[in-house]
Amino acid sequence: MTDAVTDAAANLKLDEGAAADNAPKLQLDEETGEWVSKGELKKRLAKRAKKASQAKAKEAKPAATETAPKKPKEKTEDTPLDPQAMFKQGFLNEVYNERPVKPVVTRFPPEPNGFLHIGHAKAIAVNFGFAKYHGGNCYLRYDDTNPEAEEEIYFTAIEDMVRWLGFSPHAITYSSDNFQKLYDLAEKLINLGKAYVCYCDDEEIKKQRGGEKGASPRYRCKHADQTPEYNLAEFRAMRDGKYKPREAFLRMKQDITDGNPQMWDLAAYRVLDKPHHRTGDKWKIYPTYDFTHCLCDSFEGITHSLCTTEFFLSRVSYEWLNQQLVEFQPMQREYGRLSISGTVLSKRKLKELVDKKIVRGWDDPRLYTLIAVRRRGVPPGAILEFVNELGVTTNNSIIQIARFEQTIRRYLERTVPRLMLVLDPVPVVIEDAEEVDVTVPFSPKNAAMGDHTIKFTKTVYIDRSDFREVDSKDYFRLAPGKSVGLLNAPYPIKATSFTKDEATGKVTEIRAVFDKETKKPKTYIQWVGAEGSGSRKCEVRIYNQLFKSENPASAEGGYLNDLNPESEVVYPEARIESGFDEVRQRAPWPEAAGEDKLGKGGPESVRFQAMRVAYFAMDSDTTDDKIVLNRIVSLKEDKEKS
Ligand SMILES: [Zn+2]
Repeated sequence: MTDAVTDAAANLKLDEGAAADNAPKLQLDEETGEWVSKGELKKRLAKRAKKASQAKAKEAKPAATETAPKKPKEKTEDTPLDPQAMFKQGFLNEVYNERPVKPVVTRFPPEPNGFLHIGHAKAIAVNFGFAKYHGGNCYLRYDDTNPEAEEEIYFTAIEDMVRWLGFSPHAITYSSDNFQKLYDLAEKLINLGKAYVCYCDDEEIKKQRGGEKGASPRYRCKHADQTPEYNLAEFRAMRDGKYKPREAFLRMKQDITDGNPQMWDLAAYRVLDKPHHRTGDKWKIYPTYDFTHCLCDSFEGITHSLCTTEFFLSRVSYEWLNQQLVEFQPMQREYGRLSISGTVLSKRKLKELVDKKIVRGWDDPRLYTLIAVRRRGVPPGAILEFVNELGVTTNNSIIQIARFEQTIRRYLERTVPRLMLVLDPVPVVIEDAEEVDVTVPFSPKNAAMGDHTIKFTKTVYIDRSDFREVDSKDYFRLAPGKSVGLLNAPYPIKATSFTKDEATGKVTEIRAVFDKETKKPKTYIQWVGAEGSGSRKCEVRIYNQLFKSENPASAEGGYLNDLNPESEVVYPEARIESGFDEVRQRAPWPEAAGEDKLGKGGPESVRFQAMRVAYFAMDSDTTDDKIVLNRIVSLKEDKEKS
């Protein structure tokens, strides 16, 4: 009976697709990729319009002193934002100034009942980052007071993700470590006359809280009048197993007349007939989130207890309980949470996708759990950069996947090496070519990445899509009689003939010669050396969005009806150049965030840009004999969704 009242507020609920699911009520700010309220969008558009008209007015003035027309200011994409910007300004700066103490102590308190998703990355960045920025400490505290939902696997997965993002917990703690202390404080609260054992059922509690829509007057049940002695005896009876779940619970005696529902005699303890993974059968009663969280914050000396805005109303009960029972008073403040549109994040829906084998597992690269984002190859630093770019305010943000990918793309552009990869290879025999070594830089912009030598062979592979059987004027790649440049190769090539498999209609081989006349071909394409050049066959998985719409949850017939049939396109015969081996040995790319601390990082830390194709990372399905690559993001934003 108490669960409805208390667990609705459980901190960092892992099952929180709600924000994304609400997307259609909001409107898209096309400039930032955020979903915002109608009012907010109007405000922003007005502001931009004003700015634009001011800029126009400025432009209109005669530029007497200017000697040359100014180049239009390019977007500052090459200069990343100060990685600490989110702590130096805005909400988090204000929070610090409200309580400018040293050392800062924070905590990240997930419930171990699911895999973390992209929204939690923000909570990790905020809590761990805030402490780190101020030279303080952050605890990783498992809020494990609900034995019904917890599983061992989630504990390790959560810690992994914190470390992967580059943070080290000051200590790993468990709310359950404090069960005895919390119990003693519950007795203290009873003795203070501030808690009572209640036997009311859900329906009755609802009535006490004003009924449907809170329309009727609120009142307290008769159990609130019991004496502290009676309540103490009954609470002990709860502890000793006299009551079954839902027959009795301990309630805080707050203020039913207060306007804040978090003051309407919340549940403090409930009977649960489940063994706890850490305390076994020792307890038959378990404290609620509302009772546990604020007290554990006090025990750990949390100076700034940062949580998301759905806990704004809880701040009153948080402070109320701490003031009754403990000396050290932490300060709770609330920031807007981060969600992503165009996907589902709720545990139930993810489970369905996994169970029905629609995806490859909880870490399928098309999902937005953090293990999935990691497997896909998104670098932890790009996630932190994304959070930092969005900034921290009290507004919830729902962001389009495209915006997230834009950050990843920019991040990879600066930090990973370039290689040549051909998705759908077709051999080109260059009649007058001889084998020659060419030295190629790993990055045209960053000499520090070094270079490598690849073999240009008489037969090379190019991508099927770079050849046409029939040429046309507006086509600039390879066709019979037409020349195209090969990246890093000695000369452009000109196709002379080709052969086809009559059965499939597919081109099986192209014949070509060097075109030594054309010095500057219109287009360059990538190529990969033949067998024996060190190039290797690999399986490439191109990932697109799993759903067709921005709001799969409200799609007709449910989100399973909104699946994109092209969300995973596999190229089983792709070929990667020989430089891949060195890139693999030198991983992680980039040497950033948590990956270097983990040693070599996982397969996903083998990242590169395949020139003219996309950004890729090695998949965990890779074996000694078989390389599997995942597309992290395309090179450019797809204007239309596939
Ligand atoms: Zn009652």
